[in-house]
Amino acid sequence: MVVELICVGTEILLGNIVNTNAAYLAEKCAGLGLSCYFQTVVGDNGERLAMVLKTAMERSDIVILSGGLGPTEDDLTKEVAAKVCGRALVMHEPSKERLAEFFEKRGTVPTENNWKQAMMPEGAIVLDNPNGTAPGAVIETETAKVVLLPGPPNELCPMFENSVEPYLKKLTNYVICSRTVKICGVGESKAETMVKDLIDSQTNPTIATYAKTGEVHIRVTASGDNEKAAGKLIKPVVKELKARFQNAVYTTEEDVTLEKAVSDLLVANNLTVTCAESCTGGLLSGRLVNVPGVSDVYKAGFVTYSNKAKRRFLGVKKTTLQKYGAVSQQIAEEMAKGAALFTKTDVAVAVTGIAGPDGGTEEKPVGLVYIACCVKGKTTVKKYQFSGNRAKIRESSVSAALCLMRSCILEYFSKVTFGKKD
Ligand code: ATP
Repeated sequence: MVVELICVGTEILLGNIVNTNAAYLAEKCAGLGLSCYFQTVVGDNGERLAMVLKTAMERSDIVILSGGLGPTEDDLTKEVAAKVCGRALVMHEPSKERLAEFFEKRGTVPTENNWKQAMMPEGAIVLDNPNGTAPGAVIETETAKVVLLPGPPNELCPMFENSVEPYLKKLTNYVICSRTVKICGVGESKAETMVKDLIDSQTNPTIATYAKTGEVHIRVTASGDNEKAAGKLIKPVVKELKARFQNAVYTTEEDVTLEKAVSDLLVANNLTVTCAESCTGGLLSGRLVNVPGVSDVYKAGFVTYSNKAKRRFLGVKKTTLQKYGAVSQQIAEEMAKGAALFTKTDVAVAVTGIAGPDGGTEEKPVGLVYIACCVKGKTTVKKYQFSGNRAKIRESSVSAALCLMRSCILEYFSKVTFGKKD
């Protein structure tokens, strides 16, 4: 089945807001096994909206529109969609009651145009909006199903998940399941080369690689008559990927992030941890602290941006700084050792680098980062050369630090057979 997306709003066309709804809906539809060939952005203009909607309904089975369901004059998606589908707008009494309740609860009086939001295309399936005032709708025509969703993501996403997803699932006579194998410490091109034969030879399941900062996700997607049948197709491929990437696979669970995997490893092995950060300025600690339950192991963090702070709080030697500079293997090592010593933690990670845009030299260019990880007195230091802007370099450094931490801990427990050279 073919789905098409139309995002309505002049502010998207002008670049005032980023079209995150399109990314969200496209990913969701792909997950449902729907093929998306076209996405359009159109301003708040009735004629042009009617034009793109008519075209979409001719070439796609499902057309999902986002935005323009509000009460104001320029919110005209519902009116245009009703007209194109040949439906009149009629008052939807349950929605009118909900709106009245909404305003009563807030102690405000609705204006005349607020009631416009309860007018729905005749015969449409009305989709409840518990997070806002504009209900959504599905208009079923002979050529296509037209789905109308509100623009604000906090309204659109729950409405899609609660109402549209189950509706779309019923339209298809198969289910789509996927599983993601998440790996770290292996670059995207290397990862893709390692699975190219699988990608080329498989049609169901399909295999796709996605590069994330410091990670690669490999998604295995299968279709089947039911979840069990699709799952059966996925299982051997996931097994094969695990065999190929070994310890570089940090999870196959959808909701496990790299920081969660590291935190779980620390908690499972009862290892306390500290971070000593220079160029990442607390980002590494921030990512770890994102994980609920990390308080069992995360004890303290240092943001030691200046040389003085590195000496004072981490005991870095003046002579080392003078001889090698703050961005060096030696300083990363001293930072990690000092942090472990002062906090009496089992694991200490230190990051020092040049995030740019200034401060680079020929010998030490922007993007040069040293990361050290000390596990129970044994310290490993690695040199990285990242590219991109300041934010990207800092983000890459954090991912690399998490990855190094993970491999050092695994190595400590003699579990690592992979990634020593990465
Ligand atoms: P409202 O009832 O709030 O007016 P609406 O359905 O009319 O909702 P719009 O007026 O088109 O939606 O957009 C409201 C807000 O929703 C925008 O200002 C923007 O913040 C967000 N929004 C709209 N479309 C998108 C989009 N495609 N991607 C991300 N955010 C969006």
